[in-house]
Amino acid sequence: MNDSSKKLDPSTVLSGTGALADHLQRLGVQWLPQVNADSVNALAEFFAIGGTDEEHSSAKPAVSDAPAAAISTASQPTETVAPPQTSAPAFSLSGEVDNAAASYPGTSLSAEARTERLAKAAERVAGCMKCEVLAKCRTKTVYGEGNVSPRVVFFGEGPGRDEDISGRPFVGKAGQLLTKMIEACQFKREDVYIMNTVKCRPPNNRNPETTEIENCREYFEAQLDTLRPEYIVCLGLVSAQALLKNKLSVGRMRGKFHRYFDSKVLVTYHPSYLLRTPAAKKAAWSDLQIMLRDAGMI
Ligand code: URA
Ligand code: SF4
Repeated sequence: MNDSSKKLDPSTVLSGTGALADHLQRLGVQWLPQVNADSVNALAEFFAIGGTDEEHSSAKPAVSDAPAAAISTASQPTETVAPPQTSAPAFSLSGEVDNAAASYPGTSLSAEARTERLAKAAERVAGCMKCEVLAKCRTKTVYGEGNVSPRVVFFGEGPGRDEDISGRPFVGKAGQLLTKMIEACQFKREDVYIMNTVKCRPPNNRNPETTEIENCREYFEAQLDTLRPEYIVCLGLVSAQALLKNKLSVGRMRGKFHRYFDSKVLVTYHPSYLLRTPAAKKAAWSDLQIMLRDAGMI
C-alpha cells in the first residue's frame, strides 16, 4: 500500500540513487533523469507523496498516466512536470525510422566505468598518429566532453581553430550557436555530450578526407558504444554520412529518425552552415522539435 503520509527527504533519496542508477544502467536502462532536490520534490508532488490530505484528494494523475516524459530532465522547470497532452509513451517513435539496426552489443556501463573508458580512449587519441597530415598539424586532439550518461549526443564534423587550441569541442562561433540550440531544447550544455567525427583539426578547416574519417571511425564508434545515448544529433553532412554510412544529402536525411544501434539519429544542419545561412535555422529548429516531441519534452 502506498504510505501517503511518508515524506520524501531529498537528501536521503539523493544518497540512495547513485547505486540504483548504476544498477539500472548495468541492466541496460539507457537514460535516467538526473536527480537533484528539485526533481525529487517535483516527482514527490507528481505522485502526491507527502503533502497534505487535501492535496491527496485533489485530482491527481493516475500512476499509469505518468509518462517518463514527466521526469525527462532535471534542468526542466518543475512546472513542466505534468502529463503531456497525449497518452503516448515518451519513447514512442513519432518520426519515420529507417536503418533499423541491432542493439548495442554487450551491457551498458556504469557512469563510473564510462568515465574511465572515455578517459582512456581520449588518452589514446591524444597520441594517435594514424593521419599523417592531421597529426602533424594539430595543436591538441579534441576527443569530446559532457555528460557520460547523456540523453542526447551532438555529433559534429571536426575541430576548428578554437577547438584545436583549447582541446574542447564546439567552443568557437559555431559552438556558441550550438550551445544556444542545446539551450533552446531545455538542456544545459553539460546535460548532453558533444563530440566530433575526426578528433584532429583538418588544415584550413577543410573537410576531413574519407581516409581520415575511416582512421578515426574506431574512436567515434567506441565513444558512442560507451555513451549509448537515446538520441544522436548529426550536425551536417560529414558526421551524418560517416555514422549512417551513406552518400545522401542533408536535405534527404533530415526531418526523420534514422537508427544507430539503439540510438535514434537525427540529421540537421551544421551550426557553421546556419551562421552562413540564417534562413535554414527554422528547418534546424523543426528537426530538433522532432526529437523533443519524441522525448515527450514538448
Ligand atoms: N565544428 C565542428 O564540427 N566541430 C567543432 O568542434 C567545432 C566546429
Ligand atoms: Fe588519429 Fe583521428 Fe587524429 Fe586521424 S583524426 S590522427 S585517426 S585521432
